[in-house]
This record gives sequence, structure tokens and C-alpha cells, in this order.
Amino acid sequence: MSVTTQYRTVEAEREWRPRVEQAVAAWRGAERESVARGIRRCGLDVVPIGEVEAFSAWAVASDLVTQILSVQAAPEGYSARVRHGASALRIGYGRDANDVRRLAAAYAGRDDDELGRLFGFPRCCVESFCNWWPCGRTAPDYGRGVVVDGFFPHTNIQLRHLGVRAVPHLPCSPLCRESERSAEDILDCLETRRDVDDLLAVLSLPVDYSVVGGVVRAETPHFTVASDADGEPDCQIMLGRPEHAVNGFSSWRAMSEAHSAVVVAAHRDDHYNDFDSVLDLGCGSGRLSRLVAAYKPGGVQYGGVDSSPDAVDVARALNPGGGWSVGDAIDYRRDDNRQLALVAVSRIPPYLVGPAVVYGYPGPGGVDGGTTVARYVPVSQLAEEVALETTCA
Ligand SMILES: [Zn+2]
Repeated sequence: MSVTTQYRTVEAEREWRPRVEQAVAAWRGAERESVARGIRRCGLDVVPIGEVEAFSAWAVASDLVTQILSVQAAPEGYSARVRHGASALRIGYGRDANDVRRLAAAYAGRDDDELGRLFGFPRCCVESFCNWWPCGRTAPDYGRGVVVDGFFPHTNIQLRHLGVRAVPHLPCSPLCRESERSAEDILDCLETRRDVDDLLAVLSLPVDYSVVGGVVRAETPHFTVASDADGEPDCQIMLGRPEHAVNGFSSWRAMSEAHSAVVVAAHRDDHYNDFDSVLDLGCGSGRLSRLVAAYKPGGVQYGGVDSSPDAVDVARALNPGGGWSVGDAIDYRRDDNRQLALVAVSRIPPYLVGPAVVYGYPGPGGVDGGTTVARYVPVSQLAEEVALETTCA
């Protein structure tokens, strides 16, 4: 398989080539380490002949059992990384010899179900792959030709021909939460947060991906990747804005730090246990209220309102369990002590919104530099809060 990458400008190449190379190395490390640490039972790697010795040394040092599954195979199915014609070994590995034997048998028998289990792939994604791939189709989400906003960078596999990805499998959808979870577990194996951030930054780029007649084309704002398809059916998908961008954050990490701070703060509040639903004003993708609701024992109802119809579309797609509507926060003044209100505030200096209820995040500047804060208040205090915001906005 030949893969060519073309950068749009000299500046784009200067900035993004090192990040892409770093991301390839980071993913490769995370994928292998996740098996060494027992997060997944087995892994599979296509190892160029020149790297076999180093691979074997790593496997021995990590106490892993390895087995050659095929020699110089053309990449297909779940893993594609090596050029056609390159001498390479497809090697299965795991901590348990029995698992590796089962892997070899499943690989030889093309038992995708068993392979998915051994590799630790989410059930939903294995089922989707088993249902669609043999029919020469990708899952419906990959054939729509519409822009998907609110995707998680973790589920972006459209740059896999470059070796940049955050999950080892094909997610059933760009919005598959099981895949997001699985990616977080695997990326935890990386040495530094910086590696995770850089990998997710590459995967956060909007990408227009198509396979037509066996030719893959993935276009990002900074580079275009062309490749032979690895047996992949024709499809088109456009990933637009990742979830953190829908929520006005510069990076996935900035969003998850801000959200964690609010979840923790809500938890520590004396009245936290009194609330039986979560109302999210300025809900964006709905992630924050879903998290707060999920941490309540037994779960609670949640939903929200946002003035942006696009954001509400994303919230509906990502959180079918919640209730979402387009509207204005001011309409939600009400006297209900059983509701916990989450208020996401954009571009208002934190000192204007009352220090007691602000759980912002200390960004160095730019989008995250204290101009967007998320916080929670009891709904009974909401009239006052909303009035304040409206005045500031
Ligand atoms: Zn899935």
C-alpha cells in the first residue's frame, strides 16, 4: 500500500509533520503497552523486518508471548500500517499463551467475533464490523456524506493510513462512547500527558474522508493523505468540529479539566444529594450535565437548553437519554430546589459572575483563558444568576 502525504503549505508542513510523526510513535507505543499492562488481552502488529529484533526485545522484556500470524501480508481489516511490498511480519502477542493460541486460530479462521474479544474491542463496534464489512459496506454513519459535529478525537480513524489513531478497532460510529472510553484506557499507557494531547490534537482536525474505487483520500486543513484502500468499501464521511470545539474549548484536555472541576465541585456541595435532576443552561454538547448526572447514585434526569441549534443537534446525537431544546437561559427562571442548574458562561470575565460559584479553569490565554467558565447553582438561585449573565453578555 502506498501512502502519500501532501502538506498544503511550507508553514503547515513545519508545524504538522513533527506532530504527525510524534502521534504515530505515541499510538504505536500505547497500543503495545496496553497489552503489556493487561488492559487488553492481545494485540496485533505489522512489524517491518528491520524492526522485528527490537519488537522481540520489547516483547521479551514485557513478558509477552508472540506468534507470527502471517508474512508480508497486505494490510486489511482492523489494522493497516505497512506499505505493499514491504517485508513485514504480522505478529500477534499477549500475556497469556492460551490467548495467543486462540488469537492465531481466530486469525486463520477469520473469526472476527473472537478476534474482537481477544483484542478488547467494544461489543457494539465488533457487531457493527461483523454486520457491515462482509457486505462490502461500512456502518451507516460512515456512508452518509454529511458532516459529523461533536465527534470525539478518540474515534477518528480517518487518519489510520498514516498510523495516527487512538483506538485499535474501527468504531461503529464517530460518536461511539465505548470507543472513547477504550481510547482513554489505552492512552493512559503513554508516558506523558503531552503525548496524549498531541495525538488528540492531530485527531481533532476536521477531515473530509472518502474511499472511491479503492482510493482513499483524507483531507485536513493542513495536509492531504492519499492511499490504497485496505479492502475498505466505498464511503464518505466528513468530521467537522470535535466535541470540545462545539463547547468552545481549544483542546480536549482543556474541556475535560474544566468539566472535572465542576463535577468535583458539585459533588462537594452540601446540597448535592438534594437534587434529583440536572438542568444545563448553555448546554453545548451536553457533556457536562451528563457527567454530573452520571455521578449521582442511580443516575438522575438531565437535559438542557442552548441558543445554538447546532449545539442542540450535537447534544441530541450524543445524549439520547437527555432532554434538549433550543432556547434562551432567561426562560428557565423557576423556583425548584430539586434541580441542579449547570451554567456554562462564555466570554465573561470570571470576576463578574461571583467567585463562590465559579469553577473555571486556569488557561494561559486564548479561548481557554478564563473567558469560558462552567459552574453550577441551585435552581432557586437561578433568577439572580441568569439576570447577571444577561446583563454581562
Ligand atoms: Zn461502538
